[in-house]
Amino acid sequence: MIIDVEPLAQKLKKEINEKIKSLKVRPKLVAVTYKPDDSTVSYLKSQQKFANKFNIEYEILELTFPENIFKILKELSNDKNIHGIFLTHPLPEIDEMEALININPEKDVEGRHPYNLGMLMYGNENFAPCTAEAVVKILEEITDIIGKNVVIIGRSSTVGKPLSIMLLRRNRSATVTVCHTKTKNLEMLTKNADIVVAAAGKPNLITKHMIKENTIVIDVGINVVDNKIVGDVSKDVSNIANVTPVPGGVGKITTLLLIEHVVKSAEKIYKNLNK
Ligand code: NAD
Repeated sequence: MIIDVEPLAQKLKKEINEKIKSLKVRPKLVAVTYKPDDSTVSYLKSQQKFANKFNIEYEILELTFPENIFKILKELSNDKNIHGIFLTHPLPEIDEMEALININPEKDVEGRHPYNLGMLMYGNENFAPCTAEAVVKILEEITDIIGKNVVIIGRSSTVGKPLSIMLLRRNRSATVTVCHTKTKNLEMLTKNADIVVAAAGKPNLITKHMIKENTIVIDVGINVVDNKIVGDVSKDVSNIANVTPVPGGVGKITTLLLIEHVVKSAEKIYKNLNK
């Protein structure tokens, strides 16, 4: 079965539109990128589309030289008319951590700044990484997470690791296993899971024989194969399990949460400037 994320998307859209109506400023999001790969280009297009839908000002700054990035991020951080800064990932030739620390954590709408990631450890999800938050919101919409065996495939700082922390929170209390390229016998782990989150960026990594019946499978992967977007989960898994679609699953909710974070940031920055 395919998991329909549309009801959640509609709920988020309604909440965002209500917040935007009460804003006294037009939110602005700037995406900073350098040598974007195919999946980044596709993600930026989708971001732009969503920003337009919500009348959010949107700009893509594609750098030609990586040297300027720290200065640019500082300038964007100090510009009171900018409410959200999105730094694409991967970022070739650039030390990502160095780049991230030049972003004002209050404008880090993607939740990747060390401050916001650190806050997750204390259960503060004000700016949680959007993709991890999207997975949590989808799961909370369709199941009771408490006590479930969740296997996450992928340990990146943007998806796998923060998601594991969010699922361990007392109000969710999942039993979490995080897998990576050195994990032995992945199949044994996925077969015993109630919930599998595939976030490896490897098309067809999860096949039908790795999943037991009725498992919830959240496909985070965005891979470009023959000019088409596919996830990490092979098509036939949905014959026995409940799987989120790619495209139109986690990606859609992630982008809506990014927009929600920009709106939240615009509201806070405006209030602070007009105290
Ligand atoms: P990443 O490359 O930083 O991390 C991938 C992780 O997967 C690594 O920890 C690696 O150890 C693990 N991995 C790779 N191959 C594996 C294998 N064969 N077995 C077990 N583990 C394996 O990637 P990321 O930034 O975390 O993104 C992961 C995927 O999610 C990509 O396809 C990316 O495009 C996609 N993504 C989607 C969204 C969305 O909104 N849907 C957002 C961010 C990333």
